[in-house]
Amino acid sequence: MAGEEKQTLTPKEIIHQKFGDKAIYRIEEVHVSSNECLYRCHLQLPEFSVVSNVFKRKKDSEQSAAELALEKLGIQSQDDDDDDITVDEAWNDIVERIKYIFSDEFLSADHPLGGHLRAALQRDGERCGSLPVSVIATFDAKINSRCKVIDPSVDSDPILLMSYVMKAAAKLPDYIVVSPHVDSLRRKKPYSPAIIKALATHVKSIKVEAVHIQCTVGGEEVVKPVTLDISSGRYYLDIIAEKLGLKDGSQVMISRTIGKTSSGYECRVYAAMPKLKSFDNSWKAREKRPINESLHLEKSRNAKASFVCGLDVHGDAIVASVGYPWRSHDLEHDGVTLKSFYRICCGMSPIGIYKLSREAIIAAQLPFSFTTKSTWRGPFPREILCMFCRQQQLAEPIFTLSTAPVKPMSCILRSYQKLKDSESDDSEYQYVSKGKEEIPESGTGYRCEVKILSKSQDLVLDCTSKKFYEKENHAIQNASLDALSWLSRLFDEGDVDPLQTCYTSEHLDMVFQQRILMKEAVPRGHFRNIDERNEYEDQIRIQSITKGSLVSICYSVYLDVDADFSSDGKSRKELIESNEEIEFEVGNGSMNPHLESVVTQLAVGQYARFLTDAPAEDLFVTAATGTQRDRSDIAGFEYCVRLLGVKGPTEKQIEADFFKPSLSKQRLEYVVKHIKESSASTLVDFGCGSGSLLASLLDYPTSLQTIAGVDISQKGLVRAAKRLHSKLNKGACNLKSIILYEGSILKFDSRLHDIDIGTCLEVIEHMEEDQACQFGKTVLSLFRPKLLIVSTPNIEYNKNFHKSAPPNHLKNRSMSQLPKFRNQDHKFEWTRKQFKQWASKLAKRHNYSVYFSGVGESGKADPGFASQIAVFRRKSLSNVVEKVSEGSMQPYKVIWEWSRGNGDKKTNLS
Ligand code: SAH
Ligand code: MG
Repeated sequence: MAGEEKQTLTPKEIIHQKFGDKAIYRIEEVHVSSNECLYRCHLQLPEFSVVSNVFKRKKDSEQSAAELALEKLGIQSQDDDDDDITVDEAWNDIVERIKYIFSDEFLSADHPLGGHLRAALQRDGERCGSLPVSVIATFDAKINSRCKVIDPSVDSDPILLMSYVMKAAAKLPDYIVVSPHVDSLRRKKPYSPAIIKALATHVKSIKVEAVHIQCTVGGEEVVKPVTLDISSGRYYLDIIAEKLGLKDGSQVMISRTIGKTSSGYECRVYAAMPKLKSFDNSWKAREKRPINESLHLEKSRNAKASFVCGLDVHGDAIVASVGYPWRSHDLEHDGVTLKSFYRICCGMSPIGIYKLSREAIIAAQLPFSFTTKSTWRGPFPREILCMFCRQQQLAEPIFTLSTAPVKPMSCILRSYQKLKDSESDDSEYQYVSKGKEEIPESGTGYRCEVKILSKSQDLVLDCTSKKFYEKENHAIQNASLDALSWLSRLFDEGDVDPLQTCYTSEHLDMVFQQRILMKEAVPRGHFRNIDERNEYEDQIRIQSITKGSLVSICYSVYLDVDADFSSDGKSRKELIESNEEIEFEVGNGSMNPHLESVVTQLAVGQYARFLTDAPAEDLFVTAATGTQRDRSDIAGFEYCVRLLGVKGPTEKQIEADFFKPSLSKQRLEYVVKHIKESSASTLVDFGCGSGSLLASLLDYPTSLQTIAGVDISQKGLVRAAKRLHSKLNKGACNLKSIILYEGSILKFDSRLHDIDIGTCLEVIEHMEEDQACQFGKTVLSLFRPKLLIVSTPNIEYNKNFHKSAPPNHLKNRSMSQLPKFRNQDHKFEWTRKQFKQWASKLAKRHNYSVYFSGVGESGKADPGFASQIAVFRRKSLSNVVEKVSEGSMQPYKVIWEWSRGNGDKKTNLS
């Protein structure tokens, strides 16, 4: 359908003109899921570089990068000459343009207005050849841009825009007739009959399916299908006018495009133009008045239509997809069904976008927080927020990341200690809220500020998270979620005070200006929730499917239509949504709460049916069914659901969800504490994995000089090397060397002999039990660290992860459903007793002392720490002679190595 007129250069072309080959574009692929890839463009210019947002198409990312660069350079990309033109020149341009539009030449133009003109010439009587001013204002980009020079507020006010067009036309009294009764323009000198004849096309009879939003007296609008019968060459705006009860097309207000039909054509809202009685020559008076004063308020406000088009609509409205395209002389059109209309409405609410893209309109919900990419289903929060802003005609959101300052270790430990000391949740909460901001759990962390501006750069929302995230992406995604949740609260509940602009909570600070977001069209009440009630019979709740479990289900939702309201007097069931397989994470809010609570009571393969009250959001139901329903027709929902499979929450997730700071962070802090106490200078991390301990040692200066990691997993080591490498650039540490070895910790390597501290965190349970014994022997008899810290899960604690599971119900389940260990890769998990036996025996045999501790809740109460820790201390050097001569035993392979002054050397890294 009609696009914007673009005679100007694209941003990329301008960049090319200015920089030629010196502008270097590099496209980066951003994988959002296994089968979807987006593109981000890095544009390098001689002086600086910019990075675009992500886009579906490479070329869009390039244009966006170019646009950003132009912004930085202070060059305007679109309508390059707008900048310098004065208001007088703009007026002149508009006048000239109107003259041109009514020239003979333009009549055959491949411009949308050409189509309108040709159609207008088929109109009868005095309307023949007269062009509604709304059409000129809507479809001519040049006039649009020049009016913006005169008054930027025309952008959001089409009526004002039209008044400028009329005023300009009035400056052409010899050429243009400004109709005194209707808002349209006509050429004074008639077109020659020859031209008209030549242009006359035999018009096919077209029937266009559209949607009629009818105002009722004192009630909600009725939305129903309507057919526009555009036959015998009549002008389509006149047909629309007829349906709206208006005299002719010139009384029709045309909205901007509001969304798309199912086959991708753009739709607009058509409604009565506010009556402009002062359409005589007293333009001056009208122009300055605020728009809502000049509105004709006889007819009641059409809330639904106002909401979808963002304008104040009074009286009936029609949503249709019809118009003259560029480069074609035929009228283009597509059917707008009720379903596409409701889908457009849903898409205007932030969670609606999520639901529609999940294709699970009833079941899907916007999750509370973003944890990991792998458990997220559907488009990412950042993407949803961007879509929402586009939908609402706002500027793209701006994300600003900040890094937390590196806190001194003592400070972190103090805060950690404080958290740990406070036994109850209450005092932890107090601590967090008392401190102005949450102190990051480690030396670095990111938090993100999201700013949303209107197209005219007014602030709509500025939301700053007080929370720090380990990864940049998590900070951005969670900040986007915060903003989305806020916006959806506004849309769904409408309980936001429009006058209050600053909000602050434990998690975030927010500035929000509803006025700017909503302009005149506040959808308050439009998406209102009704009370939800959970009415299914079986109330027993078993939580062996716990928070963080990934659950896969198959479900259908039926609508129960009340017998009293159905046409045949019988109650009916209508299928409105079904999914053969949908996976979601339990406890993160991403699933309809009714469905989730029922599913968590099922065993794999089991099936359940239950009823709920009438739906929460009627709009989503109508979007799913495609029929207009009164909420009173609907007795309720019937859900049928089968549990297809469960994957327990991952160890990492448990550690992050159940503990604060996360269990792994707590282990690291525990080790750091011992380093401080012992003033050790050498450390070896046995089973270093991807190097989380080693990397955290780079954050702050300690007594350590040399650290090394050993692991058998190449993959883990490669990750560790990358992590260390990138940290070394920023590092505040005073280390002299770091080495990563590939090898089995069951074997001794003489290079790591006689170290100060050995650590082995969450590793032994990944071996068979006899190997764990062998490791103990090797490390204490051959490596002989002065101090050895070993941690492993305490299996007795696991029941806390499945807290309220009554044993009799567990019998019904296939045992595979309940993971025995925290991680599939674990070969065993020990009780406190088993661990003590293992450690005490080793200590005794190798002349070490040992004491037991742990992290994750209190060690005193049952079932003990979540992660149990043994600390071995070498008693004396007496009975060990250096049996091992240097270089005799070096089974480990150096994978990566760094030393101060020499930078890092990569060995064996592909
Ligand atoms: N200590 C790390 C990683 C724990 S995961 C942390 O706390 O984050 C367990 C690690 O032990 C894995 O990286 C695995 O590759 C390693 N591992 C298992 N058996 C090993 C062996 N015999 N020798 C060396 N590493 C081993
Ligand atoms: Mg483990």
